[in-house]
Amino acid sequence: MRLRLLAAASLLLASRLAAQAPAQYPTSWDPKLADRADIKAAMSLLEKNFPKQIDEWIALTEMPAKSGQETKRGAYVKTVFEKEGLKPTIDSIGNVIAVRKGTGGGPTIAIMAHIDVVFPNETNKKVRRSGDTLFAPGVGDNTASVGNMLATLRTMNATKFVSKGDIIFIATTQEEVGLKGAEYWLAHNKAPDLLIVPDGAYGSVAYGALGIYWTRYVFTSPGAHTLASRGRPTPVRAVAEAIDRLYQLQFPALPDGAVMNIGQIHGGNIFNAVPQELYFTVDLRSSDPVLLDSLDRTITRVTKEVADKQKVGLRVEVEQKNQAGGTAKMLEGARAHPIVQTAVDINRFLGMSAGMPGAQEAVATGATDANPGVVRKIPAIAIGGSKASGAHQLSEYALASSALPSTKLLYLLTATFADGVKTVGSSKVVP
Ligand SMILES: [Zn+2]
Repeated sequence: MRLRLLAAASLLLASRLAAQAPAQYPTSWDPKLADRADIKAAMSLLEKNFPKQIDEWIALTEMPAKSGQETKRGAYVKTVFEKEGLKPTIDSIGNVIAVRKGTGGGPTIAIMAHIDVVFPNETNKKVRRSGDTLFAPGVGDNTASVGNMLATLRTMNATKFVSKGDIIFIATTQEEVGLKGAEYWLAHNKAPDLLIVPDGAYGSVAYGALGIYWTRYVFTSPGAHTLASRGRPTPVRAVAEAIDRLYQLQFPALPDGAVMNIGQIHGGNIFNAVPQELYFTVDLRSSDPVLLDSLDRTITRVTKEVADKQKVGLRVEVEQKNQAGGTAKMLEGARAHPIVQTAVDINRFLGMSAGMPGAQEAVATGATDANPGVVRKIPAIAIGGSKASGAHQLSEYALASSALPSTKLLYLLTATFADGVKTVGSSKVVP
């Protein structure tokens, strides 16, 4: 009886487990790679040089690098590339690019780490260190990753890593103001076979792209003195009515729905006049390109209706339109590319899987330089560069020690694919 109960219970458990078993995705990860002589040497070299990597990370963090003003950090990265025997170039948006040539016949892998920060150059970025914690604006987003990328290159050179495909190291600019550097590079260069972006949540792999539309709706009128304002059209009423109507729009929530935020209202500058101009801004986000576009059109239509009703002018200024990569369902193909599961498996191998609270091992979204790759159907993922918190805030911090496994992840991931997916472990090891 007891046995039978037990058997029934275990059957039930087994069927429940089967029902919950996650989908299997192709992976190129082979733990044996970690035993290969050059990879072993690389891992121990990363460990040995890690204190220096932290010093460089701190030095980079303290350099001014507001979006569009990244020249100082860019020049530093260029110097490192040169010291490593590469021939870096700087393109017209300020991206610093260096190609580490492969022997031929393998996939081209682009690694992009953005060097810009949201903070003005005057912001105090002096790093304060307390135990393992580094406090400074920009320390996590995304300076840790820049250091990880440089450490990866140095270690590849020191251990004479041989790849078939080219590895392109790119320090990108203006990520924080619409992924502009990454977008520019992808628009002006041959698409890489793989795009790896160190940025985002530690222990998690982002393979999607949250679409982000920023629009400014500017209402205009001839204006009037208060004494002559009675009954006159005023942009103020238009703004108030439009915003009220926009917040009544019904649509599903993220992750596969959308989110809208009106983050700014500006205009007018005196008490005693009808303002000539008043605007509000809309930050609209969705991974679903169809929903994103239809909501964007609806918002513009509603705003136009209100402007007509209130008899004021309307100017629609598009600040940025970062395209959406697709819902989780639309991105099933992207999820099935081995780059995603390989990164998940290496995260597990290194014990860093979904290492931040609330993070998932793989997510069909993202707001990094990987986005323009996802939109172009290039296999592209973002992987975190450190355990960090408080991005875009003065109180930002990162755990110093966490950049080491993040760098190992970047290295192992690149090494896995550098010889072509099918030939992992068979590359020539140069002692
Ligand atoms: Zn950021």
